[in-house]
Amino acid sequence: MSEQQKKNKKEQKPKFNYYWIYAIVFFVLIAIQFLPSMANTGDEISEVEFFDSYLKAGKVEKVSIVNKDYVEVVLKEDAITPKDGEAVSQKALNKKFTILSIDEFRKQLWGVMGQLEEPIKVETIERTDWRSGIMSWFLPLLLFAMIWIFIMRKVSGSMGGGGGQIFNIGKSKATLFDKETSVNVTFNDVAGLDEAKEEVVEIVDFLKHPKKYTALGGKIPKGALLVGTPGTGKTLLAKAMAGEAKVPFFSISGSDFVEMFVGVGASRVRDLFKQAREKAPCIIFIDEIDAIGRARGKNVMQGGNDERENTLNQLLVEMDGFSSKKGIIMVAATNRPDVLDQALLRPGRFDRQIVIDKPDIRGREAIFKVHIKPLKVSENIDLVRLAGQTPGFVGADIANVCNEAALIAARHGKKAIDNKDFQDAIDRHIGGLERKSRIISPEEREIIAYHEAGHAICGWYLEHADPLLKVTIIPRGIAALGYAQYIPKERFLYNSDELSDQMCMLLGGRVAEDIIFGKVSTGAQNDLERITQMAYSMITLYGMNDKIGNISFNDQKGEYNFKKPYSEQTSNMIDEEVRIIIADAYERTKEILTGRKSELTTIAKELLEKEILFKSDLERLIGVRPSEMLPPGKADIASSSERKKQSEEEKNV
Ligand code: ADP
Ligand code: ZN
Repeated sequence: MSEQQKKNKKEQKPKFNYYWIYAIVFFVLIAIQFLPSMANTGDEISEVEFFDSYLKAGKVEKVSIVNKDYVEVVLKEDAITPKDGEAVSQKALNKKFTILSIDEFRKQLWGVMGQLEEPIKVETIERTDWRSGIMSWFLPLLLFAMIWIFIMRKVSGSMGGGGGQIFNIGKSKATLFDKETSVNVTFNDVAGLDEAKEEVVEIVDFLKHPKKYTALGGKIPKGALLVGTPGTGKTLLAKAMAGEAKVPFFSISGSDFVEMFVGVGASRVRDLFKQAREKAPCIIFIDEIDAIGRARGKNVMQGGNDERENTLNQLLVEMDGFSSKKGIIMVAATNRPDVLDQALLRPGRFDRQIVIDKPDIRGREAIFKVHIKPLKVSENIDLVRLAGQTPGFVGADIANVCNEAALIAARHGKKAIDNKDFQDAIDRHIGGLERKSRIISPEEREIIAYHEAGHAICGWYLEHADPLLKVTIIPRGIAALGYAQYIPKERFLYNSDELSDQMCMLLGGRVAEDIIFGKVSTGAQNDLERITQMAYSMITLYGMNDKIGNISFNDQKGEYNFKKPYSEQTSNMIDEEVRIIIADAYERTKEILTGRKSELTTIAKELLEKEILFKSDLERLIGVRPSEMLPPGKADIASSSERKKQSEEEKNV
């Protein structure tokens, strides 16, 4: 810790405690009550005594009527005989008494005074006690102040603290992790996610050695967008980046910018970047960026959300504002990159997208390993089996399972956590998940495996199908239960052979289910939708059907809204032809797959075990794809297009 930091820490340390104010005020109030008042402190006498013993006897020098309420009397010095030669004190000469009626008293006083030889002084005084004065204005003020403070604390408390004053509302609520509250997460704590880690290594390296890059005039990406379902470790990865680079880390959620007051979001963005500039080099992490980064101007109908747009605009302005030499890297996380505003994804902003998928079986094993490390487990924990039993789990689920297992073991008074505890923990976690989202049963999993294997085999043996990248039965999103991912060729024209090959590939899933189980499932809904659309397009758009002919009914302008541009008869013919095309494709697919039942089974079994298969795995299992064997030069083209990962488009089939 440097000197400067030490000093900072000291300055921050003695936090001012508001309760001291209350205590001081309270004591002052009490003290005031005990202060001597300025009023006459003489002895109390009665009204009768005053007239008979003093006034009529000519002993009175002065009479003061105070506030028409009571009377203070000063006696002549010789009115009292001193005891034993002591001097008569001033106090002994002072007397006072309360009067009942001021008019009565005056009348009587004048009456008696008329008979006296020497006149006496009579005065009327209005005297206010300063203490009652203080009470009358100070107390209400104090009360107001206290209520004000109380309300302010409540308000700021409900906003999640961060200074605790209404004046802080425009300040960013980012949590800062720097050297004191250090980020000691490293890449070792992030299991799996190897591809994502590779992508961010460069950013980390830049933060560590900025000169190496800037010396050559290179520009480093300002931002990276982590895309993936919740709990897959996006925050963890961003933290690990900061931890590896040993730089401060600002963490904030997109929804933290949103407040009901206008202008607050934008001012929070400004404040966040101001703080970041002071701490640069650093990493700013914005979780759930879709809360502010949604495409603008889409909901004009509802009057739009100006406040959110302002916030987003401010974010864009700030991102443009800092030069990458400053060393501020923005990392954002989202589950929905599709709803983000295009401006956010432009070069110079979040131009790098890093996809974080749910972990496969090996990834889960690695995550288990990380989370078991701090636990006390018995020797024989079978990580492979645990990973196999938790399909569809993300990192957060596994962290939860490990913790739950430790709690269960503790409840049973065990010395170490054993396999049974993990088993119970998994069961319990699945029980909780079933209510929230779908968990896939072993039977369903088998169906999905054969379905995806069907797609893969079909694509493998069809000449015109796109080359396969990977096939997996790890669910992604809500809709797709598994998917096969292909590398589409970059082209705009397809001939009818290619379209029909693609249809066969899409049908592969359903046909595989049909062949293996003798019945079909709802899993092919998305496939069928696309096939139907393709078939109709072939006939009505591309003129690829002999019976209908070279006709295209393109309805781009929406002219045919209410009536079809063709007769009832043509309509029936189109429907009929669509059915024929799809039926033909189905037959063809069935032919392909029936002949390759054993290969289908091999792939499905392997999928059940490994959950994810790459092209190389398929080559190992069923040999090189026939269309890629000849001619010799063609193989190179295929693999070079494979490297073109950037342009790859995913098809969930
Ligand atoms: P996200 O930001 O994607 O919603 P988090 O990064 O907050 O997910 O992950 C929540 C927790 O799950 C982490 O704190 C960590 O304990 C655990 N976790 C998630 N992914 C991994 C992983 N790949 N390796 C180790 N732990 C993980
Ligand atoms: Zn499918």
